[in-house]
Amino acid sequence: MPSNIIDGTAIATSIRNDLGIAVEAFRNQSGISPALAVVLVGDNPASAIYVRNKERACEQAGIATETFILPDTTSAQELIHLIQKLNANDSFHGILLQLPLPPHVDANAVIAQLDPAKDVDGLHPENMGRLLTGSPYLVPCTPAGIQELLLRSGHSPNGKHVVVCGRSDIVGKPIAALLVQRNDQANATVSICHSQTPDLPHLTKQADILIAAIGKPNIITADMVKDGVVVIDVGINRIPDKTRKSGHRLVGDVDYLNVALKASAITPVPGGVGPMTIAMLLKNTLTAAREQHQGR
Ligand code: NDP
Repeated sequence: MPSNIIDGTAIATSIRNDLGIAVEAFRNQSGISPALAVVLVGDNPASAIYVRNKERACEQAGIATETFILPDTTSAQELIHLIQKLNANDSFHGILLQLPLPPHVDANAVIAQLDPAKDVDGLHPENMGRLLTGSPYLVPCTPAGIQELLLRSGHSPNGKHVVVCGRSDIVGKPIAALLVQRNDQANATVSICHSQTPDLPHLTKQADILIAAIGKPNIITADMVKDGVVVIDVGINRIPDKTRKSGHRLVGDVDYLNVALKASAITPVPGGVGPMTIAMLLKNTLTAAREQHQGR
């Protein structure tokens, strides 16, 4: 294990412990237990594992959860109906719509129906717009987790060239929007790359901080980065591994062992960004509960 590892599990554990204390203080002061509704559509095994991990983390932090499981034949209209019921239900402060949705459901149309005040994944256009204009309310969990990882591991993005590989609505675009903001915790110069970027290595070699969110195993190789780079590997890819009982293992987008030899710091997969995403979900749920209690 390289010594320059950014330990997302340890950092997330510390955040979750602090959140547990904050949740208890909020409950004592307001009489309210923050509660999260999780909506899971279909039987995607990876999504089911993520949801279980999120439920467990909520329980440990004193946040109540209820998971609504719908069959993958659910129509967009049925899903929107459930979202509207949860929006109107004051006993839930946050709603998490586990993605991806089945292909016949337009995820954006459903996300647009979420009450922005309960949108703990920060994906509603209102929350995205607030992020872009520099007045964020609920920030998408993975980007928020990446920023926290950078700051808490002593790798502030301030003044750095951050190269983001990937332009999805849940990772690439919002992390770019977050790190380019005009404040001490951001102030980065950000480049965004994607599948149509003609010469990816030309860009990645310029990165002081490289964020890989592509979803392809080992696509970022050592010859694509400069010495001393800080690498945040968002990718979660399942590859065959006969030595494992399950027959597979999880790897990121980065050729970890070889890139680690050049990097000044690097996140592992698993144990890097993933635990931070969950910690930020808890944080957003507490924020949503506080704001709703204060009538905002
Ligand atoms: P998407 O599939 O939505 O986006 C992937 C992005 O990578 C796209 O913008 C795509 O470009 C780009 N891309 C694809 N191939 C290349 C290439 N050869 N060179 C450069 N860019 C390329 O994925 P997500 O953003 O949802 O997720 C990315 C990864 O992160 C996945 O492995 C996912 O499992 C993981 N993830 C992990 C989380 C965590 O908590 N750790 C949370 C969320 C995601 P284009 O737009 O042109 O198609």
